[in-house]
Amino acid sequence: MKYPVYERFYTWQGEGVHLGRAAYFIRLYGCPQACPWCDSAGTWHKDYRPEGVTLMSETDLAEVVRADSPDGAVVVITGGEPILFDLVPLVDALHALGRRVHLETSGIAPLRGAIDWVTLSPKPFGQWPEASVVAQADEVKIIVHDPADIAAGLDTLNGLREDAVIWLHPEWSKARERDLTVLNAITEAVKANPRLRAGYQMHKLYRADDLDAHSDKRLIPLGGNAQLGY
Ligand code: SF4
Repeated sequence: MKYPVYERFYTWQGEGVHLGRAAYFIRLYGCPQACPWCDSAGTWHKDYRPEGVTLMSETDLAEVVRADSPDGAVVVITGGEPILFDLVPLVDALHALGRRVHLETSGIAPLRGAIDWVTLSPKPFGQWPEASVVAQADEVKIIVHDPADIAAGLDTLNGLREDAVIWLHPEWSKARERDLTVLNAITEAVKANPRLRAGYQMHKLYRADDLDAHSDKRLIPLGGNAQLGY
């Protein structure tokens, strides 16, 4: 199996239950959701697609993970939308190294591969997650660009396990605004419903990912191209 690799880098997990854990990230190309504030638009926006996309086999990827990160570091497969690919060979190769494998997905296709931790980030304005992926989610990350996104995100979670953690993450441009509307809405939602947790993208404050030469250093605007509105 050949996977289209946008970037790969060793850093730490900046979000969710595994916040702060050493993690090797594999970011794959491709996503049909086209979120207007996407912070990984280089994986799908046509303006940022290079002439040639790097293709790596599961063996190639397992080898760079082994060479560039120590035993004990988890591997996070993200995108883009990695659930579009058959992840079985990649997950099996990483398990053969003794690594735990985590996945970040919007859940729009059946999950293939024995993933150890599933982070579901539903996109209620786009394709909703499949019920089978909702049922397998270990944690959920609802991105809050507008206070209404909280209820809209929760609506997509029918069948979520009781022990799954639900994070409310301020969308990055909102997380940094002087206007506290979004942050205050998250605070009030958590206070009203203790099942919810307030989140933040800690790695962006540290700029931790930039330290690895293999991470993408281009300054791609959120959503790809604000002037084009997507
Ligand atoms: S935020 Fe995630 S789901 Fe949305 S376009 Fe970007 S990669 Fe796709």
